Amino acid sequence: MAKVLLVLYPDPVNGYPVFPKDYARDTVPALTDYPNGQTLPTPEAIDFTPGELLGSVSGELGLRSYLEAAGHELVVISDKDGVDSDFDRELVDADVIISQPFWPAYLTPERIEKAKNLKIAITAGIGSDHVDLNAANEHGITVAEVTYSNSLAVAEHTVMQVLVLVRDFVRQHRIAVEGGWNIADAVERSYDLEGMDVGIFAAGRIGRAVIERLAPFGVHLHYTDRFRLPAEYEEKYNLVFHENIQELVKNIDVLTVHAPLTEETAGLLDGELLSTMRRGAYIVNPARGAIADRDAIVRALESGQLAGYAGDVWAPQPAPADHPWRSMPNNAMTTHTSGTSLPAQAKYAAGTREILEDFFSGRPLRPEYLIVEGGAYAGTGAHSYAKQAEPAEAQ
Ligand code: NAD
Repeated sequence: MAKVLLVLYPDPVNGYPVFPKDYARDTVPALTDYPNGQTLPTPEAIDFTPGELLGSVSGELGLRSYLEAAGHELVVISDKDGVDSDFDRELVDADVIISQPFWPAYLTPERIEKAKNLKIAITAGIGSDHVDLNAANEHGITVAEVTYSNSLAVAEHTVMQVLVLVRDFVRQHRIAVEGGWNIADAVERSYDLEGMDVGIFAAGRIGRAVIERLAPFGVHLHYTDRFRLPAEYEEKYNLVFHENIQELVKNIDVLTVHAPLTEETAGLLDGELLSTMRRGAYIVNPARGAIADRDAIVRALESGQLAGYAGDVWAPQPAPADHPWRSMPNNAMTTHTSGTSLPAQAKYAAGTREILEDFFSGRPLRPEYLIVEGGAYAGTGAHSYAKQAEPAEAQ
């Protein structure tokens, strides 16, 4: 019998909704494959209806009946920060820890040291930077995530935020709901995306989906990544490749950020880099808050060097009420929601169950779900996270 510790965000303040009567829609589209041909998660069964709220405490990622029928113990908590948290108390004898990036249970080296039984840390979603991967490697802990599960959801959110910033939607909406009609005020910062240079930092699953969704807007597309994309893909989207982010940002009006948070990317969007961008550039960062220097972003917005900043990722999470990104000028921030739409929850809940089924049966996990295993980067981790990965074909 294993103890599975599941850390989820709190339920809605007005209580957990009843399906379907409390939901906006009765169904979500049924999908089978991702654009690269990878199949959606294939667990033996699921015990939820896609479209239900699964990522909050009462949703339990739909895992309780499966785990309990198999004789395992499931502990679901929300309180995750500080030494007196439920997380610190419960992790000491947990075999499996599952956490979502939206409400990350930070698995620091100290916590990994205390979690003597821990064998696998599963990210229900994508992005395992809340786990200290070096410590996981030292302790031989497997780290897996549900690769691709919410990449397209994030790409949609990215496109939305690019348009919201460039067209200056937030100001115009506020004027509408407040009863105003001053068109001149409403359009003083409103531009068209058409014809702009848009740069994609990291053309992985999300970055490429953003490229494909933005191309019809008549923009000029640029990108950089550790791995250059195939020539036919570059030709199809008329992509300009830049050797590094320093070259990329000089040549664009809009930057979107889709690299994992690693030692190489932490703090990369700093004051020096921002100063080399065109005045009035926009940044949309749905990757990780810590890729940007918090105060440099605020200063660049205040000076007008940046015309807008959006994204949904913060450092730390949840962000404190007085985090300056909540109040800085011309921001269109959301809380970390892009990858946890109701359909995305269904995908990563099913993927988490697939990983658990394989793990408990002793079957190998899908390579694309692996970040580290047996003390080394593996699968997607070897491609997207490892500092010194060998050049390889884009995945
Ligand atoms: P992916 O693994 O498909 O792509 C990551 C890409 O980053 C790869 O192409 C890799 O080569 C590139 N890369 C890594 N380090 C780089 C560096 N130093 N310089 C240039 N390129 C580098 O992953 P994905 O599905 O596209 O997701 C990307 C990231 O987005 C995740 O790691 C996660 O942090 C974030 N994410 C956020 C949300 C959200 O809800 N906001 C959801 C999913 C993922």
